[in-house]
Amino acid sequence: MKILISADMEGATGVTWPADVLPGTPQWERCRSMFTSDVNAAVLGFFDGGADEVLINEAHWTMRNLLLERLDERAQMLTGKHKSLSMVEGVQHGDVDGIAFVGYHTGAGTAGVLAHTYLANSITGVWLNGTRASEGLLNAHVVAEYGVPVVLVTGDDLTCADAEGYAPAARKVAVKDHVSRYAAVCRTPARTAGDIRAAAKEACALARRAAPLAGGPFTVEIEFDAEHLADAATVVPGVERTGERRVSYTEVTMYQGIRTFKAVTTVASSAVEEQYG
Ligand SMILES: [Zn+2]
Repeated sequence: MKILISADMEGATGVTWPADVLPGTPQWERCRSMFTSDVNAAVLGFFDGGADEVLINEAHWTMRNLLLERLDERAQMLTGKHKSLSMVEGVQHGDVDGIAFVGYHTGAGTAGVLAHTYLANSITGVWLNGTRASEGLLNAHVVAEYGVPVVLVTGDDLTCADAEGYAPAARKVAVKDHVSRYAAVCRTPARTAGDIRAAAKEACALARRAAPLAGGPFTVEIEFDAEHLADAATVVPGVERTGERRVSYTEVTMYQGIRTFKAVTTVASSAVEEQYG
C-alpha cells in the first residue's frame, strides 16, 4: 500500500497568522516544526495501518518547509517546485492507493483560518461547475481522475466540514477550532500528533485504488479583488472574461483544469500592484 501526503501549512497545528507560513520569518521557523510534527504523525499512522510506502509532497508556497531530518526514516519527501500536478504531484504514476490532505484550509472568500485558494488576497472566490471550491475540492477532483481516494484531511474545524463535501468517507482531524481568519483555539502538537496518527491508521482501510473517474468537463470560474487582475488573466489560452472581476475557462480533464488554474494564478499574481492610496 502506497500513501501520498499532500502537505500544506495554513492548516497546521498552531498556525493562525500570515507570518506563521511566510518562509524566512521567525514565526515560520517555529511553525514549520509543528507542521513537520503533523506530517510525521500521519506518516507514523499510515505505517501503523499497514502502508509499505509513504511519499510526502510539499504543497505550501516555496514547497520547502518541512524538516526532512525529523521525519520517520521510512518516509520519503518530494520537496521544491516546479511539478506538473503541483499540490498533488506524485498521484499520476498509477501506484498510489490513497492520499492525505494534511494542513489544508478553506477556500477563498469563506470563513476559516487563513482561508484562500492559491493566492492569499487577490482571489476572492473560485467555483467548480458552480460549486464554491477550496484547494481540497479542486485537488480531490484531480486525484479522482487517477482513481485515488482522499483518505485523511487535517486542518481547522471548518476545513474538516468543507471536506465532508468532497471526501465524505475520509477521516478528518481538526487541529484547531476557527474563531476568525487570524484566530483559533489551538490544540498542542502532542495532542494533535496523537489524533492524526490514530486517524491515519484507521484511514488505511479506505486506501483502495479505484477505476479512474472521467468527471469532466470542468468549468472553473475565478473572482479577483481587482478588475485589472481579471484583465491580465485573459492572456491564458481559453480563459474568458465573464464579469468585471471574473474569468472562466472549461477543460475536459481536471489534470488540465488545475494546470490552467496555476497559469491563471501565476499571471494574476504578477499583476498585483504595490500598495498606495
Ligand atoms: Zn499553503
